[in-house]
Amino acid sequence: MLPSGHRRIGVLELRGVTKRFPGVLANDRIDFSVHGGEIHALLGENGAGKSTLMKQLYGLYKPDEGTMTLDGEPFVLNSPADALARGIGMVHQHFMLVDTLTVAENVALGLQSTRGPLTNLKSVSERIHEISARYGLRVDPDALVWQLSVGEQQRVEIVKALVRGAALLILDEPTAVLTPGEVDEFFGVMRGMAAEGHAVVFISHKLGEVVAFTDRVTVLRDGRTVGEVATAQTSTAALAQLMVGRPLAPPPAHPEHVYGDAKLTLQNLSVRGERGVDALTDVSLTVRAGEIMGLAGVSGNGQLELAEAVAGLRACSGGRVLLGDADVTPLPVAERVARGLSYVPEERNRDGMIRDFSVADNLILRESGTPPYANRGFLDFGAVRRAAGAMVEQFAVKTPSTDTPIKN
Ligand code: ADP
Ligand code: MG
Repeated sequence: MLPSGHRRIGVLELRGVTKRFPGVLANDRIDFSVHGGEIHALLGENGAGKSTLMKQLYGLYKPDEGTMTLDGEPFVLNSPADALARGIGMVHQHFMLVDTLTVAENVALGLQSTRGPLTNLKSVSERIHEISARYGLRVDPDALVWQLSVGEQQRVEIVKALVRGAALLILDEPTAVLTPGEVDEFFGVMRGMAAEGHAVVFISHKLGEVVAFTDRVTVLRDGRTVGEVATAQTSTAALAQLMVGRPLAPPPAHPEHVYGDAKLTLQNLSVRGERGVDALTDVSLTVRAGEIMGLAGVSGNGQLELAEAVAGLRACSGGRVLLGDADVTPLPVAERVARGLSYVPEERNRDGMIRDFSVADNLILRESGTPPYANRGFLDFGAVRRAAGAMVEQFAVKTPSTDTPIKN
């Protein structure tokens, strides 16, 4: 049977939760509590231990030490199914939807095994309609997931958790993928959920959103709890100081720039997108030495195609790309790289790294065919390790070792 109505939670508490990974103390005796009816921010820099902490509350990792209690009653979780059975749901940073299925099919997936045979698609669709009306979550049960925008996919994930009876909803960096308009709508939905008695954990490193939209804040730094405050009694400056451990220097004054020569020029660039029609039509721009250029727009309006055309990953259907004075339009990626072009892709997990390779191998991936790393067709492991160690130092990369697989 599908759960009808919804449960409420009083207070969920973590006490002294500790989690170690090889070479890393990700969570160090953390205390954390969240109440029904509140939006609770879990704030911290990248690597502070936020996702690790919440994955234990969702049954994905087991704590090495510490206790969890729900309304005073201790519990242990062996899987996300256990967490859901207690009313704890989580929406991950990377969505876990099946692209080729409809929204209703995605929501129904996995319900059968835990809830008996009553989950026909019609009853699931009805539940989706109910929930979307109740919380203002706009989703179409019959739409195919691959056709949805990222914001719509996120709403499907939230609906999925609610259909499974989540009374506590954990959202891991949910606003990273949303446009400003979608962010406002998202917080409207969260408010509605809290007003109905749900507890919401909002994982974030965005101070402005935390201050504007949450009721309480727990701050993590280097795996430890460094503060818990009512949002109304704090400020972005105070939270920033807690988060990084020192007062933030004011941003540098905008310098009076004298720009140099053109470094990148796009002349009447047209580029086809995935669906075979132009995603970019007749775009021209110039970026000069000393200049940072911003490209604003709702995602899906040609930004990706522009970046890929400049990087050499996607052919142009018209126009030219110039690096300095040289026309590189026909040149492959490697020759653009040799001319000093660098590309950090939007989907770093998919397009920017090899997840099973080590930190060291990923750091030198692009230069792996050239000296000092390559020597007559062989990799010089000593050179790779030395260079990687120096980069880890220089850029303060948080990793137990350069041999650690980058996916960790
Ligand atoms: P946050 O979500 O705050 O950015 P995480 O909880 O993801 O931080 O990571 C905390 C620390 O634990 C980091 O140093 C990270 O590299 C490490 N870590 C996270 N997951 C794993 C894992 N599966 N294996 C090894 N180390 C991990
Ligand atoms: Mg995280």
